[in-house]
Amino acid sequence: MSLKVMKFGGSSVGDPERMKRVASRIVETQRAGDQCVVVVSAMGDTTDDLIDLTKQISDVAPPAREMDMLLTTGEQVSVALLSMAIHSLGQSVVSYTGWQAGMYTEAVHGKARITDIQPKRIFDALEQGNVVIVAGFQGMTEDGEITTLGRGGSDTTAVALAAAIKADVCEIFTDVDGIYSTDPRVVKCARKLPEITYDEMLELANLGAAVLHPRAVEYAKNYNVLLVVRSSFNHNAGTNVKEEAAMEQGIVVRGIASDKNVARISILGVAEKPGQLAKVFTALAAAQIDVDIIVQSGVLNGLADFSFTVALSDKERAVRVLEGIQSEVGFREVTSQENLVKVSIVGAGMVSTPGVAAKMFEVISELGLSINMVSTSEIKTSCVIDSGRLNEVIQALHTAYGLDTDQQAFVGGPAERR
Ligand code: ADP
Ligand code: ASP
Ligand code: MG
Repeated sequence: MSLKVMKFGGSSVGDPERMKRVASRIVETQRAGDQCVVVVSAMGDTTDDLIDLTKQISDVAPPAREMDMLLTTGEQVSVALLSMAIHSLGQSVVSYTGWQAGMYTEAVHGKARITDIQPKRIFDALEQGNVVIVAGFQGMTEDGEITTLGRGGSDTTAVALAAAIKADVCEIFTDVDGIYSTDPRVVKCARKLPEITYDEMLELANLGAAVLHPRAVEYAKNYNVLLVVRSSFNHNAGTNVKEEAAMEQGIVVRGIASDKNVARISILGVAEKPGQLAKVFTALAAAQIDVDIIVQSGVLNGLADFSFTVALSDKERAVRVLEGIQSEVGFREVTSQENLVKVSIVGAGMVSTPGVAAKMFEVISELGLSINMVSTSEIKTSCVIDSGRLNEVIQALHTAYGLDTDQQAFVGGPAERR
């Protein structure tokens, strides 16, 4: 008998029929002798629909607390309905909200981190032979305030729970049948990976591969949780995310990811003297703005230009912060640019293989595109380029690194996702 955490994402429970199929799968697993703790997301596009509703209420950004009050309802609907579906199959079952399940978080609305899990109630319910269902994406602060973990955060609920209850495995059921070399909705002949390391998956997730929430991977790595990504639509073997993973011969790039949530900010004509960069980035940090790639583009007559990237959603705020310190730092102007994308290649073997980054630059330039910014680490190279021909770039890189296969990837649910 093993203790399993099974997480089902929004598209896997998108309508009552899918919900019933998921219920049958859970009951089959429980009856085969496993103990199941199930984490579930809001149905289909519910979270997006709730966000759209807030825009119809007011143009003013809603208070973060009330946003969390609203968004957590999506998962509450799912847990109750899934519980009813399981009950109708004659299986004893109980559903819990995040707070009932003992998920404590820091007091940050919209992207709280989990601080503690007190799973006593879960263990008691399991002991009584129940399937236990827990609402993903939500928690509670010590003061009893409701929080959410950030978009896609149900993955993190599942992995954190798996670590807390010492589950044998955490299975993430989604609408593709594993982790692929790139988004199989973009490249139809993407390569399904039998396994991938925590570090590589963490890079891919941070660099935009939506299939797993980055914090979920972080948790899995820190607590050594065996994480399996597989399909809720079939029984195909999925992808194991673990400490070490074999690399197929002749392949150095494990995966390609892209992120459209990128804006470039440039500060032009900065007087060159010590401490200037520190002032700029301290001001941005104080405003909770994360800065990603930073480039200094030459010095002329004692004046330097700097460019860096921030999330698109932070662009306006970043420009305002910089304008606020313009006279103190002493620079000529701030400019910003949208319609960019960061495309990245990831692979643990890159560090010991010369020419991997060079090939990326070559492929992009052969498409007649210029590269605005570059950043590298031991296991990844990222390029910021104009967003217009992104899919073409991803396909060309995929081919150039020998990742194409002659099989069509399995993609369940609607062809286009919102
Ligand atoms: P869920 O609703 O189950 O949480 P998500 O939409 O969050 O599902 O994640 C699954 C989606 O991630 C897939 O439909 C796929 O389009 C996308 N995706 C992006 N990169 C990858 C990748 N490298 N491998 C597999 N899927 C990917
Ligand atoms: N429902 C939330 C979202 O859409 C959390 C999740 O699906 O993981 O972001
Ligand atoms: Mg997801």
